[in-house]
Amino acid sequence: MMQPPTPSRTADSDPSRRGLDASPARRAELQANLERVRDRIAAATSAAGRDDAPTLVVVTKFFPVTDLVALADLGVVDVGENREQELVEKVDALRAERPDLIVSPRRHFIGQIQSKKARRIARHADVVQSLDRLKLVPLLDAGAADRENPLDIFVQVALERDGSGRGGAQEAELHEVAAAVEQAPHLRLCGLMAVAPLGEEPAAAFSRLAHVRQDFLANFPQATSLSAGMSGDLEDAVKIGATHLRVGSAILGSRPLAG
Ligand SMILES: *Cc1c(COP(=O)(O)O)cnc(C)c1O
Repeated sequence: MMQPPTPSRTADSDPSRRGLDASPARRAELQANLERVRDRIAAATSAAGRDDAPTLVVVTKFFPVTDLVALADLGVVDVGENREQELVEKVDALRAERPDLIVSPRRHFIGQIQSKKARRIARHADVVQSLDRLKLVPLLDAGAADRENPLDIFVQVALERDGSGRGGAQEAELHEVAAAVEQAPHLRLCGLMAVAPLGEEPAAAFSRLAHVRQDFLANFPQATSLSAGMSGDLEDAVKIGATHLRVGSAILGSRPLAG
């Protein structure tokens, strides 16, 4: 005789999870936004004639860990944070209340990295997308030393022509930084990351990025990942072959201006 199926434990039926549960209304909102973004990505992917769907990294910065938990329960397996302190606080909260969410979702660090915070970032993230200078390589490598698997690294490229703006290595420095990552025992070079500059059509900036990547791949053929595209420009990024999209506000709503 067949056994009746065991009822699955849900967040609602497990009292130990209550502390990190978002409200039902918030969960419904996140679910609807997530579906809209997934539809946009699917449409852009097929419009570009691609059959490899890019990875969606949901950027949870400035939003509470309850949103991260709700997203994980909705099937999100990659999340992004841009401030070291917020990353550490969220990891601590998960360890205490939802240790099942420590291994997945994978945590991507996407913010500018201060030297003195590099080690802690390497200990709390699974992927660092914003490595932009040589000096950080030994610090990240030291922070990653106790990890079971190497820390995944994207080198961030500056797309601004004047070097101002939102971080990133100049094209001339990229190869040196990437070569150092390849030499570091606890780091794994994945590819490149970039943010489209303000005040320029993202498509134009991304077409420069596509050229930079082409040269980069000639030297680092295994480093095929490309992280580009956010809420406003993900379609342009899919067109130039982005493998990772970092989407915040289209899923979580608008952030305070400081973000
Ligand atoms: C905040 C942030 C994002 C997400 O931006 P949205 O416009 O909210 O989608 C992506 N990448 C980086 C580096 C960010 O800091």
